[in-house]
Amino acid sequence: MWSFLSAVDKIFDDLLLRESIFINREVLTHDYVPDELPHREEEISKLAYILASALKGGKPSNVFMYGKTGTGKTAVARYVLKKLADRASVIGMNVSFAYVNCRYRKTNYRVLAKICEELGCSGVPSTGLPTDVVFDKLRNFIERLNRLVIVILDELDWLVRNSGDDTLYQLTRINNDLENSKVSIIGITNDLKFREYLDSRVLSSLSEESIVFKPYNSEQLYDILKMRTQLAFKDGVVSEEALKLAAALAAQEHGDARRAIDLLRVAGEIADRRGDNKLTAEHIMLAQKQVDRDIIEMVIRKLPQQEQLVLLAITVLNNGDGQITTGSVKKVYEKICELLGYKPITLRRLNDILADLEMLGIITATIKSMGRYGRTRIIRLEVPRDILIGVLSEDEKYNEILSKNILN
Ligand code: ADP
Ligand code: MG
Repeated sequence: MWSFLSAVDKIFDDLLLRESIFINREVLTHDYVPDELPHREEEISKLAYILASALKGGKPSNVFMYGKTGTGKTAVARYVLKKLADRASVIGMNVSFAYVNCRYRKTNYRVLAKICEELGCSGVPSTGLPTDVVFDKLRNFIERLNRLVIVILDELDWLVRNSGDDTLYQLTRINNDLENSKVSIIGITNDLKFREYLDSRVLSSLSEESIVFKPYNSEQLYDILKMRTQLAFKDGVVSEEALKLAAALAAQEHGDARRAIDLLRVAGEIADRRGDNKLTAEHIMLAQKQVDRDIIEMVIRKLPQQEQLVLLAITVLNNGDGQITTGSVKKVYEKICELLGYKPITLRRLNDILADLEMLGIITATIKSMGRYGRTRIIRLEVPRDILIGVLSEDEKYNEILSKNILN
């Protein structure tokens, strides 16, 4: 015990005495919105131009913004809306904003409840009312606000994939029933196929204007990193080579600025932990490994329960021999439900969940013809099994399943 305590003391002492290479680590976290967004001047001016009519009392067109993850969509939207809010308050104009990230609120009800919360419309419990009733409450509330309301639906594909487009459709029509107020919608998605599966009526009203975000190339990512480095680290501790490597790695990863910034933050943490006073390409390589792992773990932890149960079934099957098919997943999934006392979902829902897991890159499913037996999907795990086991076994119930041999 004593030696353990002194070991802990030593860690604390070391940490307190050691100098960090960071001056402000916060600017490398996901919540930070930078003051400047290099290489997004065009997208910023386009959005500003569309929203500017608000300042003259007009209703800005709805805007649809799309592009891959980490291309700056959320940052640009927040940046321009902040400027708009500042300007509106200077000229004494009333505009309200509601920002919803649909990845974390995938049902029509929860999205509407969040919009109510953002606008300050009380009396909407987090569950319980019929969705139509919530919609009416929201519309009446907006009408009484007597102003322009801008609703930002970020990662909108999650809502539509999960719950259909009814609410989105209603929202795009809401102005027909408003006299004193107006609503403009900014829809954002990382899913480039979203346009294809969105109903064409909804798509056309949502995308009165659209802005495409192209992936950043390695030079652009370098500039973004360079700027962030100056805020985050002490002068001269980050090597040019490290910056170039982080930019190149993130450029390969579909030009993802979030990835680039994550690499830099994690590399800095690794350097600090090792007591190194320079951040080099080697730290970036180590960070690359860790970031992959972290992302997968976070995604799995955040999955809803049914998704986790399906993934648990796949993990169990992955250990057995033979191909994993929708049928075998269903069987093992149902067995797990029985053991844990959950009510199993239908085959249709199961297929939706498999599609979700594929979207997230956790599995791939390829259709295979079985001759006269029709077709089936062959499912492959795309993430290391040990990561799945690590995360899933954090839950005692899942851990029990994983430690049993339930396949026979
Ligand atoms: P998206 O919404 O397209 O997935 P984000 O807007 O969340 O991407 O951007 C990912 C990260 O990269 C955020 O931390 C954001 O601040 C940063 N970022 C993106 N584009 C730029 C840019 N042009 N300049 C500086 N930082 C940027
Ligand atoms: Mg985003």
